[in-house]
Amino acid sequence: MNGIEQLCPNCGLCCNGVLFADVELRPGDDARRLEESGLKLARKGRRQAFAQPCACFDGKFCGIYSGRPLRCRTFECGLLQRVQSGELAPDRALKSIAQTRRQAEIVRGLLRQLGQNDERLPMTKRYAAVMSAPIDLSDCQIISERRGELMLAVDELMRQLQRDFLK
Ligand code: SF4
Ligand code: SF4
Repeated sequence: MNGIEQLCPNCGLCCNGVLFADVELRPGDDARRLEESGLKLARKGRRQAFAQPCACFDGKFCGIYSGRPLRCRTFECGLLQRVQSGELAPDRALKSIAQTRRQAEIVRGLLRQLGQNDERLPMTKRYAAVMSAPIDLSDCQIISERRGELMLAVDELMRQLQRDFLK
């Protein structure tokens, strides 16, 4: 088994809205075919992009793997690169993935407790929505505590993503 087969079905962080908020198309991508495959494209500056969590991700696999966009074909997170090069053992990488997925679940739980239930949005947007919402003074203490927990949990998640996936 290669690194992709070993790691990616156990991860999904680059497709499920945790690592990225969207994916931009590249020259050479066939926008019409990708839309027919289920991706909803929108203009982002000079390029087209689709939002994450990706509509073609089933929680484990890419539903359009053989026809996925160029950015998806070329992206390899740091963890995958280190496994492919032999620098990191697959079981160590799988432990990092499990730890980061657990941390993402903690963040999701806090977002839900703070009333942010829209799982269609990427995590950064859900976090921004919660933190920019005015605090109801009658719930002030509880909400403030939850927001504090959320900030710490997101901080830890970002640290793990930077350390293991984005380097
Ligand atoms: S973040 Fe890395 S290990 Fe996880 S699915 Fe993407 S490429 Fe695979
Ligand atoms: S097209 Fe496939 S590889 Fe690309 S983000 Fe969506 S599920 Fe992931």
